[in-house]
Amino acid sequence: MRSLSLLSRPRHFAFLLRAVPASQIAITPIASASRSKRNYSLPAVVPEDEDVTTADPLRRQQQQQQRLSDRVQAKIAAIDQERPFSQALTDNFSRQHTYLRISLTERCNLRCTYCMPAEGVELSPNEAIMTTPEIIRLARLFVKEGITKIRLTGGEPTVRKDIVELVEQLGELQPLGLKTIAMTSNGIALRRKLPSLISNGMNLINLSLDTLDRFKFELMTRRKGFERVMETIDDALALGLDPVKVNCVVMRGTNDKEVLDFVEFTRNKKVDVRFIEYMPFGGNKWKENKLVPYQELIENIRAVHPTFKKLVDDPNDTSKAYHVPGFAGQVGFITSMSDHFCGTCNRLRITADGNLKVCLFGNAEVSLRDMMRQGKTDEELLEVIEMAVKNKKKQHAGMSNLVNMKNRPMILIGG
Ligand code: SAM
Ligand code: SF4
Repeated sequence: MRSLSLLSRPRHFAFLLRAVPASQIAITPIASASRSKRNYSLPAVVPEDEDVTTADPLRRQQQQQQRLSDRVQAKIAAIDQERPFSQALTDNFSRQHTYLRISLTERCNLRCTYCMPAEGVELSPNEAIMTTPEIIRLARLFVKEGITKIRLTGGEPTVRKDIVELVEQLGELQPLGLKTIAMTSNGIALRRKLPSLISNGMNLINLSLDTLDRFKFELMTRRKGFERVMETIDDALALGLDPVKVNCVVMRGTNDKEVLDFVEFTRNKKVDVRFIEYMPFGGNKWKENKLVPYQELIENIRAVHPTFKKLVDDPNDTSKAYHVPGFAGQVGFITSMSDHFCGTCNRLRITADGNLKVCLFGNAEVSLRDMMRQGKTDEELLEVIEMAVKNKKKQHAGMSNLVNMKNRPMILIGG
């Protein structure tokens, strides 16, 4: 019987898929595993590949590998269903946190008005920013506890010099249960790196673009680069990323009249444009009258596209999905201000300087970086993570209170 702990030898999993015939492998959990949810062994016996039909040996091998991979995923999903979810990642309102957003840097090559205060931000010294081994250690710890999706953000994640290698190391966590490696980027410096990022395991991209007018782009971001972002969107589509999400922060009097142009943008491009309600953060001069509630946007769109239709959302989606029937792409509304989705929130955040933040709008933070640098064990880190998660509030304080609350500027949180 073959047996392999995916936890202890994640790098070897891909090799295993190649080397062992599909018919000899099944997954069972190791009964005495630590608190990790995903400590599996691989003993023998999976039914023969009756549905692998081709005579071409190479194609046959590929089909067998695909079947095996599907079965492994199905088994993991089945085991996950049976096991209780990590206590450390479950809060007092029974929300199970499966999604971690990691900010890689406080630096950015744009200066978006809604994100970066006009006077700039005081950057942390280099040594305060988490190193790649620290990020990977935390990512591994969280994935072992049940995180299935990691989003890299910032600042602008692509300005981090080792971004491609960092994604490669995250890719090695896939056998532990990490399904999605996502990135939110402004698309300015992403294009050249995109193929390597994808081949290293990045499988979801959100590109930020608030206007389809190159001059307004310069006003909103205080920099040039519109064409480059458009090219990056096309590249992402051509490279097969699906969906390609486009984040558009809507501000009254600035770009709200372009919402119909963005809907038009989805006619022939298979993009998912997500209109984000403008949110208050430290130093962004938020005003309620600049917020355009999503219901107003829907009315405006329906006036031109009466068939504009609601689609079904997944339980933890932050976006309310819609489309115009017949259009290649779709649109969504992220309604954090007018209709919050705190009840189904499954997200945790780690800032570039290593603070765990359990709520985007809360100012409670704890430094995991300091704990790691003090030599704390994973168990000790988990205890602190659990305490922070258990302290997560039921919902954010509401629009009128948020504006007066102390919070970091968005660029120092990582959206
Ligand atoms: N630099 C990257 C980018 O712009 O895509 C990643 C970091 S950025 C902080 C992440 C997302 O937060 C972007 O899509 C941005 O539009 C959004 N964002 C920033 N400030 C915001 C605000 N005040 N309200 C709503 N969304 C905001
Ligand atoms: Fe930079 Fe992104 Fe903030 Fe714009 S939204 S300033 S691109 S971090």
